[in-house]
This record gives sequence, C-alpha cells and structure tokens, in this order.
Amino acid sequence: MSDPVVVALDVGGTGMKCALVRPDGTVHHEERHPTRAERGPEAVTETILGVAGSLAARARADGLDPIAAGIAVPGVVDELNGVAVWSANVGFRDVPLKDLAEQRLGLPAALGHDVRVGALAEARLGAGRGRRHVLFVAIGTGIAGGLVIDGRGYPGAHGAAGELGHVVVRPGGAPCGCGLLGCLEAEASAKSVGRKYAELSGESGATAFDVATRAARGEEMARRVWQDAVEALADGLLTAQALYDVGVVVLGGGLAEAGDDLLLPVRAAVAGRVTFHRSPEIVRAELGDAAGCLGSALLALDSVEGAS
Ligand SMILES: [Zn+2]
Repeated sequence: MSDPVVVALDVGGTGMKCALVRPDGTVHHEERHPTRAERGPEAVTETILGVAGSLAARARADGLDPIAAGIAVPGVVDELNGVAVWSANVGFRDVPLKDLAEQRLGLPAALGHDVRVGALAEARLGAGRGRRHVLFVAIGTGIAGGLVIDGRGYPGAHGAAGELGHVVVRPGGAPCGCGLLGCLEAEASAKSVGRKYAELSGESGATAFDVATRAARGEEMARRVWQDAVEALADGLLTAQALYDVGVVVLGGGLAEAGDDLLLPVRAAVAGRVTFHRSPEIVRAELGDAAGCLGSALLALDSVEGAS
C-alpha cells in the first residue's frame, strides 16, 4: 500500500495555494495558481477542480495514494454541507464545492473557511500547538478570527462564526464594508491603518507595515495611527476573551508581519484593560500564508478519519 496524502487548496481572491500534504502535516509538493476571480464563479470553480484533479494525478505519479481533498475559500462557508454560500472577492453564491470535488476526483472532499482552517493549522501545527483553547486572528485587508477547541474548529450555526472584524469597537466610527460604523476591521485592519495614515499625512501609498515602522522610529503621525489601531484591536480582543476565555491568541495575517511592533503594544493594551478576564497569551502566528493550505489538509484528513 502506498503512502497516503491529501490534496489541499486554499483559494483566495488573487491566488490559490495548493499542496499535497502527508497525514503528519509535512508537504510533499506545493504549487500556486492565480485565481483570476474576474472570470466569474463558474470559471474559478472549474480551475479549482482542475488543479485538484492534477494534484491527485501527481500524487499517483509519485507513488502516493491520494485519500481525500480539502478546499478552503473565503466568505460564508457551510462546512457541514460543503457549500460556498457567499464570497465578495471570489463571487461564489451557493456553490456546492464539496460535491463537485467528490464527483470530479472520486475522493472524499471537505470544504472550509479560509481563516477558520488557518486557525486549525495554527492550533495544531503552529503557534497554538499543545494548547486546548486557541483563538486565531488574521489581520490583513480585513479582520477575521477562528476559534479552535481541542483541535476542532467552531464554524457556527450558519458557517459565519469568527467574524471578529465586525465587532463594533468604536460606535459611530469609520464606515465598514458591512454597513456598520466602527467595526474592528474598519479601525484596525492593515487597509484601514493605511487609509487613516493617508488621511492624516496626505501621503497615500504607505502600507500598514510602513506605518508600524515609522511609528517605531517615533514619527508622530504614524505613532498616533498605529496606537489607535492597537487600542481598537485590544478592545476587540478583550470582547473575544470575555466570550471565549482562550489560553492563547495567535495573531496572523499581513499586519502580524510587524512582529514586536504589533505584539508588544497589543499585549500592553490588553493587559491594561483586563478586569475579571484571565489574560490570554498573545503570540505571533508561525505558519505565515501556508496556514490556509495546511488547514485544508487537516480538514480533509479529519473528514476521512471521521468517516472510517
Ligand atoms: Zn463591519
């Protein structure tokens, strides 16, 4: 019997990270493809199925046994039924990706949410290893979270759990894409940090990472924007801690690239707010942008383990 692997895909608005992953989480082979979401959801779905099929074929050619496939997509995802319910950046509307992948590949398949499977990977293979209650928070263009308890993700009743980015932290604050004002995402995402700095300084094009670097160097406008984002993030994390009481919060996504320039002030701001809460440890993610793909692999492995 040849060694088992799973086919894993992490589909984003601009690119797909794809891999063949062994049951121990090591990667046999990886490749990347553009999503080209502007082609519409049917074409993107066809690309996903084609890439998954060629990865399964590659596994067999390498003498391995593909046993399942896992696919992660952004948006609202019904993991139980394997349906990509809604996605703003890929354009999915009720696409039954799990069934489509099973038909195309002749393998069991699992569908997950990009950030929640990333949380699964960080909790089991990354910065949350060995911890029972882990909250992963991805801070990039938007902000989203994933709660993992005893190695299992929590999807919610409608596949929409973990939307920490839409917790209102500044009532009446900056307008959010969701229609509310003052959501965490509108106050502390990488995108909003860049926007606020541009408004204040008149200089467009500075990224959140630039703002963090300039703040660390003592530039006053950058320091104000960065500190505002840190305070908003701390308010959001305190709300999450009141609800979940996790042992560790893992900060990932593009903004976490700021490293200690983010971690140290966030830790201080959370510590300054806790009252009855037990403080979580706050650490940086370890898996970088591989988390989603590894998490898809874990989801696929879990699905065949659960079925056997
Ligand atoms: Zn919002």
